Amino acid sequence: MSYLASNERYSTMKYNRVGKSGLVLPAISLGLWHNFGGTDTYENGRAMVRYAFDHGITHFDLANNYGPPPGSAEENFGQMLKQDLHPYRDELIISSKAGYRMWPGPYGEWGSRKYLIASLDQSLTRMGLDYVDIFYSHRFDPNTPLEETMQALDHIVRSGKALYVGISSYNAEQTKQASAILKQLGTPCLIHQPSYSMLNRWIENGLQDVLDEEGMGSIAFCPLQQGLLTNKYLVGVPEGSRASRSENLKNQAISDKTLDQVRRLNDVAAARGQSLAQMSLSWVLRGGRVTSALIGASKVSQIEENLQILGQADFSSEELASIDAILKD
Ligand code: NDP
Repeated sequence: MSYLASNERYSTMKYNRVGKSGLVLPAISLGLWHNFGGTDTYENGRAMVRYAFDHGITHFDLANNYGPPPGSAEENFGQMLKQDLHPYRDELIISSKAGYRMWPGPYGEWGSRKYLIASLDQSLTRMGLDYVDIFYSHRFDPNTPLEETMQALDHIVRSGKALYVGISSYNAEQTKQASAILKQLGTPCLIHQPSYSMLNRWIENGLQDVLDEEGMGSIAFCPLQQGLLTNKYLVGVPEGSRASRSENLKNQAISDKTLDQVRRLNDVAAARGQSLAQMSLSWVLRGGRVTSALIGASKVSQIEENLQILGQADFSSEELASIDAILKD
């Protein structure tokens, strides 16, 4: 049956302005890194995307290499657009990125003009789109002049293949330089996509100040530390969870020390009347410095639970102090 979006889709979501731009993003956005690839169940991914949009999640984040296999998340998302979301294209913010290995040979990764432009063309074909809303340089390339990477982003906007551009995982200094070059070219750097969670606070040491100075927004990836900051791993690694399936999380060694911290954070969340997943997202959004928390999900019920945080992003100073104390131990 054809999909009709809920009439209530804008009734509960909060939208935050992206830095000093004209764009707003939902407080919670959905990323398609895991669970939307060619080896995953298409109908499950489709149900999550529909649920998300029905509840005001207007922003879907992709990258050339999401899958597995690489490219298949964009292909599947293209199919969902065709089947369900196509009539709502102007209500959607769709992003993609290039930076990691996508095809063999010397032009299949990093930050050259050659790679970025070819990769975006491939992404547009996979998704059946004329343009993406945001296109990112996925990682800083130490061997390509930053001017070349930024000129490629500027060219991409001027050629109409992206409306805005951003950078991901650049450090504070690299961000400052990238922003200055883009400003000079006349295409502002809209947004930075860094990792950020209670267990990973690197952006507080300089990057956030640069983003404020430059008028850029930020969208925090892995706000739940890939699921570690939920109640999922409190008593071992459950069947079907990401840690049971993905080398990426398994290799991050879920240590006894981290698990002890997670259990204590879970107690703080319970005292606030939230699940640990909910508190972790509220924490990332506290104080309004992060524009959007970019979650992943493997089932609709997780998105449903995570959306309950809207209106619960405030913390007392005692709560923040007890979280800091747990994280310092
Ligand atoms: P999260 O930290 O939000 O982890 C998502 C995982 O947490 C889910 O797959 C699920 O794990 C678990 N989870 C989510 N909600 C709940 C809940 N309520 N209860 C229990 N478990 C829950 O983010 P991701 O690591 O998925 O990353 C999010 C997005 O960020 C990506 O899709 C991508 O768009 C972007 N990203 C960008 C990167 C970059 O370099 N720019 C790098 C990595 C990600 P399970 O599958 O075990 O159920």
